[in-house]
Amino acid sequence: MLARENARFRSFPLAVQKSLARHLHLREVKGGSEIRMQGKSRNIYFPITAIASQHAIIGNGRGAFTQFLGSNKTIGFAFESPQYSIKLEGRWCCSGYAFEISVQRFREFLAPGQETLFEKFFANIDVRRLTNRLYCAEHHCTKQRLARVLLEALDVNQNDDLTGATHQKLADLLSIRRETVSTIIGRWQERGILQATREKLIITNRGELERAVCSCYEETVKIDFDVDRYMSSLSWQLEKPRLVRTDVHQTPAHAPA
Ligand SMILES: [Zn+2]
Repeated sequence: MLARENARFRSFPLAVQKSLARHLHLREVKGGSEIRMQGKSRNIYFPITAIASQHAIIGNGRGAFTQFLGSNKTIGFAFESPQYSIKLEGRWCCSGYAFEISVQRFREFLAPGQETLFEKFFANIDVRRLTNRLYCAEHHCTKQRLARVLLEALDVNQNDDLTGATHQKLADLLSIRRETVSTIIGRWQERGILQATREKLIITNRGELERAVCSCYEETVKIDFDVDRYMSSLSWQLEKPRLVRTDVHQTPAHAPA
């Protein structure tokens, strides 16, 4: 089951994986394309090699980067909750493959009565991600923030190659100038922390990035951990087996002769 290459999917009970797998479709996605995050007919994704970025829309209408979504996460899981949710935008930032399932189909597998709870849970998670990101932008230097973004991208990737991580894209995520990104990346390349080509970054010394990052990276790890723990506590209901009438030709044991 290829879908097991997504760690979030793999964390579901085996019987749930088997039932869900029958409804998953493998999709090839292109970097730069938008992901529908709202509406009842949208899809949920389990990325395998593709990576998406999620942005929260803040007061000025601009998107503030909140997280990467890749091979250990789900995209589009939080359901409609207009009274709590922050408006989110999603975009594939790295081409590749992801499994897709419609949100309606996915919901059929969840035991009823949990939705209000996880609306609140995810609203709270979104607020934590966004406020921390705004704090980071205000208080930490560009080098620390760039190290953070690279570590977060590595954490949702299956290897150390960040394909499609151009200087321009990294600059856009952090709302800084491309030249600033190029200067820092150039210095890191000289120190053997990474290798940069036109289309990708290969991280060769993760430890050095961990030394360069601000404490906010720990908050990302904590939030992701809380989401993982929450997702593993979900209650499921599996598909009912097809009803086969076995009573027609059988006489119940307690029936009078
Ligand atoms: Zn920070």
